[in-house]
Amino acid sequence: MTLPFDPSLNLVGGQWQRPVSGQTLDLENPSTGEIIGQIARGGTDDVDAAVSAARQALAGTWGRATAAERGRVLARIGALVAERVDMLAELEAVDVGKPLKQARADALALARYMEFYGGAADKIHGETIPYLDGYTVYTLREPHGVTAHIVPWNYPMQIIGRSVGAALAMGNAAVLKPAEEACLTALAFARIAEEAGLPAGALNVVSGLGEEAGAALAAHPGINHVSFTGSVAVGSQVQKAAAANIVPVTLELGGKSPQIVFDDTDLDKALPFLVNAGIQNAGQTCSAASRIVVQRGIYAELLERMISHYQALRVGPATGDLDVGPLISARQKEIVTGYLDIGAVDNVTVAAQGAIDENAPAGGHYVRPTLFADVAADHRLAREEIFGPVQTIIAFEDEDDAVAIANGTDYGLVAGIWTRDGGRQMRLAKTVRAGQIFINNYGAGGGVELPFGGMGRSGHGREKGFEALYGFSVLKTVAAHHG
Ligand code: NAD
Repeated sequence: MTLPFDPSLNLVGGQWQRPVSGQTLDLENPSTGEIIGQIARGGTDDVDAAVSAARQALAGTWGRATAAERGRVLARIGALVAERVDMLAELEAVDVGKPLKQARADALALARYMEFYGGAADKIHGETIPYLDGYTVYTLREPHGVTAHIVPWNYPMQIIGRSVGAALAMGNAAVLKPAEEACLTALAFARIAEEAGLPAGALNVVSGLGEEAGAALAAHPGINHVSFTGSVAVGSQVQKAAAANIVPVTLELGGKSPQIVFDDTDLDKALPFLVNAGIQNAGQTCSAASRIVVQRGIYAELLERMISHYQALRVGPATGDLDVGPLISARQKEIVTGYLDIGAVDNVTVAAQGAIDENAPAGGHYVRPTLFADVAADHRLAREEIFGPVQTIIAFEDEDDAVAIANGTDYGLVAGIWTRDGGRQMRLAKTVRAGQIFINNYGAGGGVELPFGGMGRSGHGREKGFEALYGFSVLKTVAAHHG
């Protein structure tokens, strides 16, 4: 595909420009292994320029825009994104290897985030607080100032939508650092935002390596808030860097999310959720349901039915729009196959595997979706985030056992509970440790309205929904004494 713009440019203060170093990085199509373009290798100088451009935007038109005006710009961005869904989906497919149908869903989610946050921008209010005689006390919600957004490669559009959308709605000016593996939709989004009339400097984009542009952004003294989505190891470094500047951080990190299936589950309804939540985006999903925790009485039936789903799964290039695309890179493939090797060494049962399409290009990073059965709850396959199309099935005896297994990892991002017993639904919703709990469904279609974030090593802070608007603003209390 011919790219519709030059991806080797950064956006700084309304100018598309080469990085100060003049250096670029190759961008690979994971479906074929071919190099499809070059992106900017931004560094400290580019980050400095982007942060000052954002600061200037706050002192200019963008900083003076009313909440309603900000909302209108976001709504216009959302409308343009909705018109360009096909173009964005094609870029994402070639850049991330995401099957077209899933890439389209991400583009629509991006449009929906802009619509939601556009509509919400003028609906966040302060409060008046009854206080002593002779006082009027009220609160104001103000932007942090310049916000940093460091995003990963797996869902660029959705993550940009939820974090940049909420930040702009509250009047912040943003500096976005997309992942070096997948920058195209971030750059396309910034072009659309310009076209929709977002003032120069309100959104700046600096591409580059994590340890260069990303680290420079996280540590920059001109940043007032950092939103980081990515791995636990890097999240910890980002938090340390921000701590040096006493800056708040939202960390959206990894997961090892369970779906807990009790004996009374309607398996016809549950099955598609159980499988899709493991293989969507080739399992490279923070909220992937990589652990299926099943009650003994329904175990054999569930296993048999999951096996037939897995045997039907087909893997191939994004443009083929099969069930599963490639992994993002050779490195990610090595990590995932490393886990398959661990399973083999430890004699963990491979219950079923999907098949790689015979026409899949040889240079693509394909792995067969793999279902492990009878996995011990404390095995590495059941505890560590694999970030590939790999699910483990773990048996449990009773409710206490189920909760202990579900809570038996360091993560706490999302959990699914399948049972028709209302009391049990309510009990587990409280005792299972996760930022989102789904009862008799999983993911709820990704709803932009639903606050999202982790517990434990899955991170802290909440994005999505109205909750994100509180996170992307700061509360000021005004106490007026008037006698
Ligand atoms: P990663 O941590 O390697 O990279 C994420 C981003 O951080 C990229 O933009 C990268 O360039 C940047 N980065 C890397 N090193 C940096 C540094 N030293 N300082 C600052 N920035 C740096 O993560 P990844 O491999 O791209 O993404 C996969 C991880 O992201 C998984 O663990 C997954 O679960 C997690 N994730 C979480 C969510 C969520 O919402 N909780 C969503 C998507 C992905």
